[in-house]
Amino acid sequence: MNNETMIIIGAGAAGLCAAIVSARAGQRVTLLEQNSKIGKKILVSGNGKCNIGNKYINLSHFHSQNPSFIEEVLEGYDFTVIQKFFTSIGLELMEGKEGKMFPMSLQASSVVELLEYEAQRVGVDIVCDCVVSSIDKDTDTFTIETTQGTKTCNKLLLASGSPAAPQLGGSNSGYTFATKMGHSLIPRHPSLVQLCSEETWVKGASGVKVAGLAKLYTNGEYITEKKGDLLFTNYGISGLAILDLSREVSIALASHAYCELSLDLMPKQSKEKLTNLLLNRIQKESTKPITLWLQGVINKKLISIILEQSKCKVKTEKELNRKEINKLVHSIKNLKLSINDTKGFQGAEVATGGIDTTEVNPKTMESKLVHNLFFAGEILDVDGDRGGFNFHFAWVCGLRARKEK
Ligand SMILES: Cc1cc2nc3c(=O)[nH]c(=O)nc-3n(C[C@H](O)[C@H](O)[C@H](O)COP(=O)(O)OP(=O)(O)OC[C@H]3O[C@@H](n4cnc5c(N)ncnc54)[C@H](O)[C@@H]3O)c2cc1C
Repeated sequence: MNNETMIIIGAGAAGLCAAIVSARAGQRVTLLEQNSKIGKKILVSGNGKCNIGNKYINLSHFHSQNPSFIEEVLEGYDFTVIQKFFTSIGLELMEGKEGKMFPMSLQASSVVELLEYEAQRVGVDIVCDCVVSSIDKDTDTFTIETTQGTKTCNKLLLASGSPAAPQLGGSNSGYTFATKMGHSLIPRHPSLVQLCSEETWVKGASGVKVAGLAKLYTNGEYITEKKGDLLFTNYGISGLAILDLSREVSIALASHAYCELSLDLMPKQSKEKLTNLLLNRIQKESTKPITLWLQGVINKKLISIILEQSKCKVKTEKELNRKEINKLVHSIKNLKLSINDTKGFQGAEVATGGIDTTEVNPKTMESKLVHNLFFAGEILDVDGDRGGFNFHFAWVCGLRARKEK
């Protein structure tokens, strides 16, 4: 390998995209990947279908301590640009709900295989099972120690991702290399992650999934709310609404705030509608147990929890009155669940934080501190919402990561 080679560390979304466009532009590229296969996170993404991007790119879906960086990176790089790139490698896309884009095959493997084919076609040297352990730079040359020997180059791209999902290659190593070269780090927290609770009732509800609404309170203050699936588990709670809230929870827990969710198990029923529905179901003479009566409207596993939180002492249907119904409705629409932890990076899809983007040129992804050092993807202090936004950012970085001609 000679110094004219560009080395890219990490064959994920950002690294693969950058390798292809750089090689197409005439650059000699070597792509180093610690896993035995490239694109492991792409392969499992979107439940194996790969939510490759989103048609509606909007700054509100991206998070960073430096939002103007994201704005500049995304300027001129909407979804049509990403689509053009995928068309150029022979991958057709289709639209799902809420602008989510998927490969037409609905198979993540087709994304990885077509990226790999194109990378090889344009001459990228892909080296798997190659763990980078250290990087040094003297005047013009980066010296990279790997499990496959020492490599040198004069252009280096760090696309080694974040610590999210270590089982798929998530790692902190890129941060170690970058900080050694003078870069700063914004604290990382797991995001798009399941939440843990020490409340014992939650185990009893394990496996129950409802289309609900979750409101987050930290230290008693309302923060935000998300609609979608709520899935009770033996450790706490998961589901799409929970993943969408998890960023705020993770950050709040890190500062030791008390986090509590208020769950609306029937958001489609207004308080009044649900009250009337329940009142109209009461049969004055019925000795039906209240637990069975509630099974007519709500999952069996949730009933004892609703009764306990509502402090409803009624045993049979005929004992119910408006006051008791109000208490039940309040619990169904405001079930409280305290959160003490997240499932950590092991369970997270992404990490918040990363390399401080004030030290990176948003147009070329080049370090402002180290000449010819570039960054791309999740290693940077940018994370996105669920819906294809994380991949969008990774592809855009990959397309941008090189010197302006
Ligand atoms: C389960 C799951 C599902 C997801 N689903 C979606 C989805 O549907 N849509 C979406 O937009 N986003 C999704 N994401 C998030 C998305 O996968 C990431 O944001 C994206 O992959 C980041 O790309 P990247 O190239 O920056 O990093 P990565 O894809 O993490 O690639 C970094 C690569 O660098 C390698 N590496 C790290 N350190 C070293 C080293 N020292 N030496 C050599 N190699 C190294 C790693 O092995 C890895 O392959 C999902 C994530 C997970 C975990």
